[in-house]
Amino acid sequence: MQQDPQVIRQAIGQALQESLSLQGGKNADYIPFLAQVPSHLSAVAVVTAEGAVYQAGDSSYPFAIESISKVSTLALALEEAGPAAIKEKIGADPTGLPFNSVIALELHSGKPLSPLVNAGAMSAVSLLKANDAEQRWQRILHLQQQMAGSALALSEEVNQSEQSTNFHNRGIAWLLYSAGYMYCDPMEACEVYTRQCSVLINTTQLATFAATLAARGMNPLTRQQVLRKDNVPCILAEMTMEGMYGASGDWAYSVGLPAKSGVGGGVIAVVPGVMGIAAFSPPLDNEGNSVRAQAMVASVASQLGYSLYR
Ligand code: GLN
Repeated sequence: MQQDPQVIRQAIGQALQESLSLQGGKNADYIPFLAQVPSHLSAVAVVTAEGAVYQAGDSSYPFAIESISKVSTLALALEEAGPAAIKEKIGADPTGLPFNSVIALELHSGKPLSPLVNAGAMSAVSLLKANDAEQRWQRILHLQQQMAGSALALSEEVNQSEQSTNFHNRGIAWLLYSAGYMYCDPMEACEVYTRQCSVLINTTQLATFAATLAARGMNPLTRQQVLRKDNVPCILAEMTMEGMYGASGDWAYSVGLPAKSGVGGGVIAVVPGVMGIAAFSPPLDNEGNSVRAQAMVASVASQLGYSLYR
């Protein structure tokens, strides 16, 4: 589907403008690095399934991908194990609880329920076939780059900040192991998961990552088929159920697009067959979703008239 470039330019410009007056939220501070990213940064970008790129604001500022990385790792796990095994070994349900909830595990006999919460993401990392942590990590980074259409790199600073404070995730990794939902050494899975969250990406690269899902697994900028087409609907379903954590239901109700957030301040949304939308701004609400990025993505979707349920 071809959209009028002027209409998209106008929509992202207006979304950025509206977001600048939004004052709520607070940078994540449980990861020390994230607390000191300038809170005023704001960006929004659209990449269409045909490969047209639109950007506004601080769209080339690199920030930590954090939980948006769970999407590409899920894609890898799906390629390796297939949808039925992912549903059985990790899950395809919303948790209705915070992204690092231990109660969510306790309520379901230790099953993570979703590959998009921390527990399920570590399970997904552990499912990948690899001889060691380095190989596991390289596979994950490679797909992140293929989806973003650019070389990406781990930030040593973010990684160090996370690895030295991720005791809660290590606890979750051992709980998964004891319940039978961890498929490699739990500390290796946690360590590699933490690296995958510490990759730097900018808003335009993130919109390309989302556009790869919109274009059924083909990166519209490199024209490479980087995901199995048949798995894309499963990824989008998982995003709908848990992509915005406890706010996923509200988001489906009000915006109606599969989405994923990260505590670095990024949010992506996918209009299947049409475009990827991404936004970034560090201050988060109580669910761990960026206040301004959510508003920008919602504004672009609404101005352009996109919702799955329309
Ligand atoms: N690295 C973060 C964590 O494990 C990612 C969380 C997020 O972005 N929601 O807590």
